Amino acid sequence: MKDVVIIGAGVTGSFIAKELSKFDLDVLVLEKKLAPGLEQTKSCSGIIHPFQLPFKLLRSKLCLEGNKMMDAEAEELGFEFKRVGLITVANNLITFLAIPIITLYLRMHGVNAKPMGRKKLLEMEPNLNEKVYGGIFIPSAGVVNPVEMTARACLFAKLNGVKFIYGCKVVGVERREDRFIVKTNKGDFESRVVINCAGIYADEIAKMVGYEMKMIPGKGSHVVFAEKGFTKHLVVAIPLKPNKRTKGGGALLSFDGKPVWGPNLIDVDSKEDTSVKRDEIDGIIAKFAPLFKETPKEIIAVYAGVRSIVGNDFVINEPLKGFINVAGIQSPGLTAAPAIAKMVLKIVSNHFEMRKKERIVYLPRKVKREEVCKSIEDDEIICLCNMVTKKEILEILENFKCFDAVKQITWAGMDCEKCKAEIIKLIGKIVPKESEGGDIAWS
Ligand SMILES: Cc1cc2nc3c(=O)[nH]c(=O)nc-3n(C[C@H](O)[C@H](O)[C@H](O)COP(=O)(O)OP(=O)(O)OC[C@H]3O[C@@H](n4cnc5c(N)ncnc54)[C@H](O)[C@@H]3O)c2cc1C
Repeated sequence: MKDVVIIGAGVTGSFIAKELSKFDLDVLVLEKKLAPGLEQTKSCSGIIHPFQLPFKLLRSKLCLEGNKMMDAEAEELGFEFKRVGLITVANNLITFLAIPIITLYLRMHGVNAKPMGRKKLLEMEPNLNEKVYGGIFIPSAGVVNPVEMTARACLFAKLNGVKFIYGCKVVGVERREDRFIVKTNKGDFESRVVINCAGIYADEIAKMVGYEMKMIPGKGSHVVFAEKGFTKHLVVAIPLKPNKRTKGGGALLSFDGKPVWGPNLIDVDSKEDTSVKRDEIDGIIAKFAPLFKETPKEIIAVYAGVRSIVGNDFVINEPLKGFINVAGIQSPGLTAAPAIAKMVLKIVSNHFEMRKKERIVYLPRKVKREEVCKSIEDDEIICLCNMVTKKEILEILENFKCFDAVKQITWAGMDCEKCKAEIIKLIGKIVPKESEGGDIAWS
């Protein structure tokens, strides 16, 4: 029997697994996809938010904590994290006059916020519209590759004894005396504690033990442009009237510096609706273009994700002894993930005597993208667009047998069909041999 079964290896399940792996516990993670982070996590904006309003919410508290923890997490797990900073722009007189009050309010809640004049802002971001009045600079905002961050947490957990079963869909959870039976397409598992981190499907898992919650899928679309360096910071407008349900998106940045504009918020009927409609693309561009002198020209991708929204806040509770919900983890769940993991660790510690392992094993240091060129000796570069080597791809395939994992962790083959073909050729040579009778996924 397991001590803890975690359902779902998105960013929350993975960070919880990582924290639990530091203790003498028998932990199993069940993930229906072939690799971690391939649902909501992969389709988020990848922003480490500096704050979330209103400050009274649990998700705001965990956002602030998670943001502060992120440098240490990046160091411990070896994922890349850049604090690029956020500029909130006043583009009318009313929001300009509100700058001192907003700055004070943010500072009162522990957020480092600096008011900026028009001249300084234009020096920081030369592409900003000349008509900008002023703004606030918030240096603690950052960017990550969300799937890399998630996968590194899983690899750390695995190295420290957590078991992962991918391609394993949970279809039932039954309470039996002091334990749970978790039923899956790969057999049944017994566990003392079950943690529900199933993202947009967390309502269905909770229902299996009789707990009801109303999940509202909220689609968010993004537009990605080719022009790296168009902005160096994340840029948003100070809203005249804040929207209670969304931060409203912005002219954001991908981890590798491409402009990513969005996301919007559209209520959808299906949890699987990740379509991006033409009018959404036009709407996103129309919303953010006025912030700049000109609009980036070349759209290279559009993508959408579905937020798991349950009311206005995260749902982290234990409705039944030993069954823990980590549900409704809408934005800023990526930012909050390390803090969510610490909170869940406290709940788990009510069930076990938590003994820290004597020795914790750390992942080998990852070569940073910009260092790849210097570090290759005998290695072969497979994706020149993103400087990804054959060795790195083979290492990923040792753990996760699907193209989507390679693409999302390294971004190799993300923008270029030639690189994609090279990777698929490489996967084709090794994956079928190793996964007889198992699952092989190409995308
Ligand atoms: C458009 C958009 C933009 C966002 N931008 C940001 C941002 O910039 N910054 C930020 O902090 N947050 C952002 N978020 C929020 C963030 O993406 C989420 O809070 C976070 O990814 C939630 O992680 P999760 O692990 O709870 O869910 P998921 O990533 O969805 O993981 C759940 C996992 O459970 C698995 N699963 C589901 N059902 C089963 C089952 N029956 N059996 C086994 N496995 C199962 C799924 O396959 C999945 O891997 C954004 C979200 C969206 C949609």
